[in-house]
Amino acid sequence: MLGLYLKEPSDLGLKEFVFDTPIKDDEVKIRLVYGGICGSDISVFNGRLPHAVYPIRPGHELVGIVLESGKDTDVKIGNRVIVQPNSYCGTCEYCESGRTNICPNKESLGVNTNGGFSEEFVISAKYLLEVPDTLSDEKAVLVEPLSVIVHALKKVDIKKDTNVAIIGCGTEGMLSIALTEYLGANITAIDINQEKLDKVKSSYHNIKTLKPDEVELGLYDVVVEAAGVSAAFEQGVELVKPGGAMVLIGMAPEATIPVIKVVRKEITLYGSIIYNVPEDFLRSMNLLKDNKFNVDPVISKIYHFTDFEKAYKDAISGQFGKIVLNFKEE
Ligand SMILES: [Zn+2]
Ligand SMILES: [Zn+2]
Repeated sequence: MLGLYLKEPSDLGLKEFVFDTPIKDDEVKIRLVYGGICGSDISVFNGRLPHAVYPIRPGHELVGIVLESGKDTDVKIGNRVIVQPNSYCGTCEYCESGRTNICPNKESLGVNTNGGFSEEFVISAKYLLEVPDTLSDEKAVLVEPLSVIVHALKKVDIKKDTNVAIIGCGTEGMLSIALTEYLGANITAIDINQEKLDKVKSSYHNIKTLKPDEVELGLYDVVVEAAGVSAAFEQGVELVKPGGAMVLIGMAPEATIPVIKVVRKEITLYGSIIYNVPEDFLRSMNLLKDNKFNVDPVISKIYHFTDFEKAYKDAISGQFGKIVLNFKEE
């Protein structure tokens, strides 16, 4: 069966993969339905993630159908599943306290272990969650990226009328907007790209959209940094109100921290990485099942996986929301 194969940065192609050993008792073979292209897939493609290994099969935002299941699993053949794509050891101090997201033994699909962008792949059943019938494939593929936001926004108190600034209107920024809207907050979305601002403005309520140089400083209870560039982080610190908090999701390699402002305004900076399982995944699924939770604008385009070149080009351009690869049988 065919899958994507990244030989080295920028050298992406299709490759025939063969399963030459039977699946293990704890494993499941999946027939992929959709795979979402993530910012981290693009960073691996561009050679910008220091812990990435090559060659590698990319892909970690995955929804599929169970084809075969090992005898120690309780996953049923024919059921739809999503994948929790980060492994954990289960025995370190972090895992033991439920914080599997910071397990030092973590491996991530498509980054430092082969991912799921292939017609079929095999994975331990412990990383699978069944998808309820009420959730479409298009929504199910968003469970993983939404879990990142569910986890991040748990760190702060967002409720009706909280003033929230969200910097960056890519996929994670839009998912932050969707969750913040759902919680009833007043949203200010900030991006350098006017088209992205227009799109979120027309899709969400209680939202103001501004370019970075138009934003008033010191007004926000919560700032979400989802752009991943140093300027966004630095401006974010200026936007937070005294006593407020900033949640960092983007991964700018470095930035200048105006320590005196952080101290004098007594603001809190939260780093947030992926999610804890299963709770953040379950909350994401519940949100996505609720029609009041608006994620329709998030997916921009769906390409057949053999059109991966166009799909990656669009994803790299940064001009779109989520780009999804379709692996369904024709
Ligand atoms: Zn992702
Ligand atoms: Zn661990």
